[in-house]
Amino acid sequence: MARAIGVFGGTFDPIHYGHLRPALDVAEALDLAEVRFIPSGHPPHRGRPVAPSALRLEMVKAAIADEPRFVLDEREIHSDAPSYSVTTLESLRRELPATPLALIVGMDAFLGLTGWHRWRELLDLAHLVVAHRPGWHLQAEGELSTLVASRQTHDPRSLQASPAGHIYLQAVTQLEISSTAIRALVAGSREVRYLMPDEVRKLIIESRCYGREAQEVQ
Ligand code: ATP
Repeated sequence: MARAIGVFGGTFDPIHYGHLRPALDVAEALDLAEVRFIPSGHPPHRGRPVAPSALRLEMVKAAIADEPRFVLDEREIHSDAPSYSVTTLESLRRELPATPLALIVGMDAFLGLTGWHRWRELLDLAHLVVAHRPGWHLQAEGELSTLVASRQTHDPRSLQASPAGHIYLQAVTQLEISSTAIRALVAGSREVRYLMPDEVRKLIIESRCYGREAQEVQ
C-alpha cells in the first residue's frame, strides 16, 4: 500500500508556525509521504477570509517552499463550492483510490466535528489525526465520544495499513499562535517577526492585507 498522505486544511489567513511545526511533527511521527496544505476558498463555518485567496496561496507557497514533504493543493481555492472537508476528501479519493489519507485537525476543530457537513462520512474517506493544540484537551461528549471510543487507535502503523477509518491523537509542539492574533498585531502596527517564516511576514507587510499602516520591510 502507498504511504499515507496528510491533508491539512485551513484558512491560513495568514499561515504561521502554529500550522507549520505541528504539521511537520505529524508528518514525522506518522511517516507521511507528504502533507497537502489546502487553503479554503469559501470556508462555510466562518466569515470570509481577510486576505484575498491569491495572497493566501502565495503565503502558503512561500512558507512551505523549503520542506519537500509539504505540498500546496489549490483545489478549494479554485472551486466555487463551499470548502467542506468531506467534498475535498471525496475529490482526493477519486485521484488516490487506495492511498491512506490522514486528515489533520487541531483539537479545537475536532471538538466541533459533529457540526461539520456530512461528518459521519469523513472516516469512510480518511483517517483523522488530531493535533493537540495548546490549552485544549480531549473532552469528547455525546456522539463524538462514541465515535472516538469506536475508532481510536494508539498504533500509528494502523494508519498506513488501511486507507481510512481510524482516529489518532498526536501530541505536537505547543505554539500558542493564531492567525487572529497575527492580524490584530498587524492592524495595530506591531511586529509579527518570529511568528511565521520571514517570507510570509514580508508578503503581509508589502500587501498591507491586514492593515492600512504603511510599514517598511526590514
Ligand atoms: P484563526 O485565528 O483565523 O481562526 P487559526 O490560527 O486557528 O486561524 P486556521 O487556518 O483556522 O488557523 O487553522 C487551520 C488548522 O490549524 C485547524 O485545524 C487548527 O486547529 C490548526 N491550528 C491553528 N493554529 C494552531 C496552533 N497554534 N497549534 C496547533 N494547531 C493549530
